[in-house]
Parts: sequence; C-alpha cells; structure tokens
Amino acid sequence: MATPPQTTAPRTSLLFRKDPLASVEAQINLLNRTDLGVDESLLTTAASSPQNAFDLSLQSTGRFPLQASSVDTFQLNLGRVCNQTCIHCHVDAGPDRRENMDHATAELAMSVLAQTDIPVVDITGGAPEMCPEFKYIVRESRALGRKVLNRCNLTILFAKGFEDLPEFFLENEVEIICSLPHHRALNTDKQRGDGVFEKSIRALQMLNKLGYGKPGTGLRIVIVTNPVGAFLPAGQGSLEAEWKERLLETYGIEFNELFSITNMPISRYLEWLERTNNLDGYLRKLKDAYNPVAADGVMCKNTISVDWRGYLYDCDFNQMLELKTGFGSPTHLSDFDVSRLAKRRIVTNRHCFGCTAGSGSSCGGSLTE
Ligand code: SF4
Ligand code: SF4
Repeated sequence: MATPPQTTAPRTSLLFRKDPLASVEAQINLLNRTDLGVDESLLTTAASSPQNAFDLSLQSTGRFPLQASSVDTFQLNLGRVCNQTCIHCHVDAGPDRRENMDHATAELAMSVLAQTDIPVVDITGGAPEMCPEFKYIVRESRALGRKVLNRCNLTILFAKGFEDLPEFFLENEVEIICSLPHHRALNTDKQRGDGVFEKSIRALQMLNKLGYGKPGTGLRIVIVTNPVGAFLPAGQGSLEAEWKERLLETYGIEFNELFSITNMPISRYLEWLERTNNLDGYLRKLKDAYNPVAADGVMCKNTISVDWRGYLYDCDFNQMLELKTGFGSPTHLSDFDVSRLAKRRIVTNRHCFGCTAGSGSSCGGSLTE
C-alpha cells in the first residue's frame, strides 16, 4: 500500500525552496529516467515516428499521432499565485509565487475569444481569483455569451479582500469547479493543509445558501476529488454516490457532480513521489493501466490552454512542463488561429499516461464512466 503524503512536507513552492524539481528540465529528465519496461531503443526524433513511451502505447492501439479534433474550451491559467500550498499541486502554486496575467494579456485573450465561437472559458490558476484580471475576464467572457467555469479552491472565499466572490459568481452565473480531495477532514488536510477541510465545508454551505448545487437553479457546483497517495482513483460513479450521501448527511451540503481525477506526476506531486520512493511504481502503474478508450477522450483533443503570458499549450499539464503547442501550430495568443489549432498535432510525453490510466482522467473527470 502506498504511503500517503506526510503532513510534515514543506508548505512552500518548489521554486521558493530552490528545489531542483522547480526546473521543468529536471522534471522531464526524472520522468524519462524511470524504467517503464518499454523497449524505447527504436525511438527517433523524426516527427512522423513515436517519440516517447506514451506515443508507443498510442501506436500499439492505432492512435498515433494524437490529434486535436476541435477547440471547445479556452482554458486560461491566470498564474501561479495561491493562498494554499497543497502537496500534490501540479502548478507549484502558493502564496510565495508572483506570476499573474497582466491587463494587456487579458485584453488580448478576450479579443481572441471574441473572434471565435469557442463556447466554454475555463479559468484556472493558482487561485485564479487572486489575479487582478479575474473579474474582468469573467465579465467579458459572459458578455460574449460564453459559459464560464472557475476552478476554485473554496478557501479563497474566506481570504481577506475576496469575501464578495460568492455574490460575484452568482451575478455572472459562473460554474464552480472546486477541489475537495476527500469527504473526511484528515485526508483533505493532509493534502491541502490544516484547516482546509473545515473552510471548504463552510464555503460549500455558503454557496448552497445562494442556490448553488440546488436542483432547478442552473447554478452548478462540481467537486473534484483526487487520491491522497500514489494510487489511481476509484470509479467516479460509485465515489459520487458516496460523496453525495456523506456530505448531505453530515453537513447538509448538495452538489451537482463529482469529478474523480488522477494525480499527474508533475511538479510537487512528482517531488512527493520521488521523496517517498513511490515514483517508479506509480509511473509503471499509470503506464500498465493505459486504456485506449480513454485516449480517445483526452482533454487536449478539444481544449487549448493559455498561460499568464499568453503562450499556448495542449493542456494545463503541458503548460506546467513548458511544452508549448508544437508541430507548426500557433504558440501565442498573438498568432491564434482556431482552425489550425482545431486540427493540431498534440505534444506528448510520459506524463500523458496520467490521462489514459484506468478510467482516464481530465479536467472534466473520468473519461470512460
Ligand atoms: S492544488 Fe490548487 S489550491 Fe492547491 S496550491 Fe495548487 S493551485 Fe492552489
Ligand atoms: S497530459 Fe495533456 S497532452 Fe498529454 S494526454 Fe493529457 S491532456 Fe493530452
């Protein structure tokens, strides 16, 4: 049984503590060093051939190369600043980070959006609400008639200066995608920090009072859960039933849907895997659980991810590894071309096994349940 994350883990970003894994090159080297039991001797750098172990799995099931099929989601990562410092964070976010999207980039993002009919704007971070451009982006996206999802850590609703957020969400009909690793305090606080569970519960109760999560209001709350340890998530359907029952019975909380996601071996979760000697076993587990049906639904196929400087990526995970859109696709908002991006080839590496393991995993939860 894998060891769960320790509460004694440092509560600062990798960058702040000058950990070698703050460097994306070090992360990619570490991922590539692990023996996955795959014969990679025939890999070349030729674009027409598989370039990594994940590509080989795609090829063995007739799915290489991985291609986008549309751009339905414009995912904006507003920066790395966060009021929490969760152990598993793939963004290496925290209060000690300073990166935030500026107004010129936010304006550019909105003018790009206006020239497309991409229906969904998915806002993430860090704690995206801590970016000074957050409200501007929400209002502009709504004025353009787009659905807005906000990836909210819940505790931000109690941070000084952010108390008006619930009303703001309500006014703009923002869908709340919120993280809560477990319906028990101990498991949640181990991963996200002491006291996070209690605040998250209060935040959900507050949102319920505004009508969020209640039948017939159209105000959706989605809870995102992820394993507290080095294992794959259990089935999303059974977890959702369990969570709905427990949260309602114990705290009177209602929500619409549960997304169960796999922890990606990137950034602080990668550092934790290595520090606890779980890395080789976890990567092997992800690779051995490769599910071709999940590969057909990976989020990069219909999402474009934008960073705080306006650079483009196939997904938020590639963004954190600084793997920009490739193979001749536009790489920045300033040369955004939705028709080219909708049929782009996707940049892959070994971390992609995190999306295709078992039932599959994406920002929208399991891919095959
Ligand atoms: S996982 Fe989310 S809430 Fe936790 S530190 Fe990262 S961005 Fe912040
Ligand atoms: S990590 Fe990103 S690029 Fe790789 S399969 Fe998942 S969504 Fe696609």
